[in-house]
Amino acid sequence: RAKAAGEGTFARYDPAMHSGLVDRLQLAADLRRALEGTGGTGGAGGTGGTGGAEGTGELVLYYQPTIELRSGTVTGFEALVRWNHPVRGMISPADFIPLAESTGLIRPLGQWVLAEACRQGVEWGAGDPDRVLTMAVNVSGRQFDQTDLPAIVAGVLADTGLPPERLCLEMTESVLMTDTEENLAVLLSLKAIGVRLAIDDFGTGYSSLAYLRRFPVDTLKIDRSFVERIGGATPDAALARTIVQLGQSLGMATVAEGIEQYAQFLALRRMGCDLAQGYYFSRPLPADEAGALLRDPAALAA
Ligand code: C2E
Ligand code: MG
Ligand code: MG
Ligand code: MG
Repeated sequence: RAKAAGEGTFARYDPAMHSGLVDRLQLAADLRRALEGTGGTGGAGGTGGTGGAEGTGELVLYYQPTIELRSGTVTGFEALVRWNHPVRGMISPADFIPLAESTGLIRPLGQWVLAEACRQGVEWGAGDPDRVLTMAVNVSGRQFDQTDLPAIVAGVLADTGLPPERLCLEMTESVLMTDTEENLAVLLSLKAIGVRLAIDDFGTGYSSLAYLRRFPVDTLKIDRSFVERIGGATPDAALARTIVQLGQSLGMATVAEGIEQYAQFLALRRMGCDLAQGYYFSRPLPADEAGALLRDPAALAA
């Protein structure tokens, strides 16, 4: 298990304490400023800078390893954004992603995350043919409103040199259920580029099985809520098993989210789940610590 390092507790931004409109406008202005100079604020169609080092340095990516359950090896990382606000301290994505979505800032933010994660993936050798390392990036439903999302993704891949199949884009079920035809077209374009597509928090939304068959999805990520109480003959265990079997019958890989205990790890592995993430293996880590984990997998007590 990775050490407590990177465990940085959030001085969680409490929306209840700052619920005013003025406050949200201030935070949005701060986010805009934090994004300036990252190269992601360029106009539509631009692929943005891929250096990503110039901004104010307030936005950073942490990386949580993805573990193959059979072998216990690290097969990749999920990039998770954090905002180190100069006054408010670390703000969790759960608190500022919705703000970014409602202000449109999610587009430059998402583009910066994509470029930075791909650049980091290449630095870790994800571009080497013999190095199987997948970088997963969360994509907000709002980013699918950009019909040029495939062009942006293609541009970032070209700029960074990350092979398309080493990038996995994670989206929630809502992307399948809203603006279905438009989003299907975007997803098919992304598939044509060769990137992988995953459904995040699977099981919490309302996607129908028919949609699942229609959309070119490669991976189902089993929501943490099903993993939490998986011990014994609980309904959650039955649901987790059903999702794994669904993935198997549709030819999709399954990833268990939020494994915290050995018993959960064993149960998921027994069910035939392919991959897993969770505090049991490692918390999301700053890039240098995640890189160290890659060089010394023994640091991971899986
Ligand atoms: P997600 O994509 O489902 O990511 C998993 C979340 O669960 C992460 O929270 C991760 O730190 C946390 N987690 C991982 N393992 C465990 C565990 O064993 N136990 C528990 N209790 N939690 C675990 P985080 O980093 O706070 O991110 C929250 C959500 O914010 C993400 O959920 C994702 O929806 C969103 N998000 C994060 N980064 C980005 C981004 O770059 N773009 C977009 N659009 N959304 C992002
Ligand atoms: Mg995710
Ligand atoms: Mg999730
Ligand atoms: Mg989530």
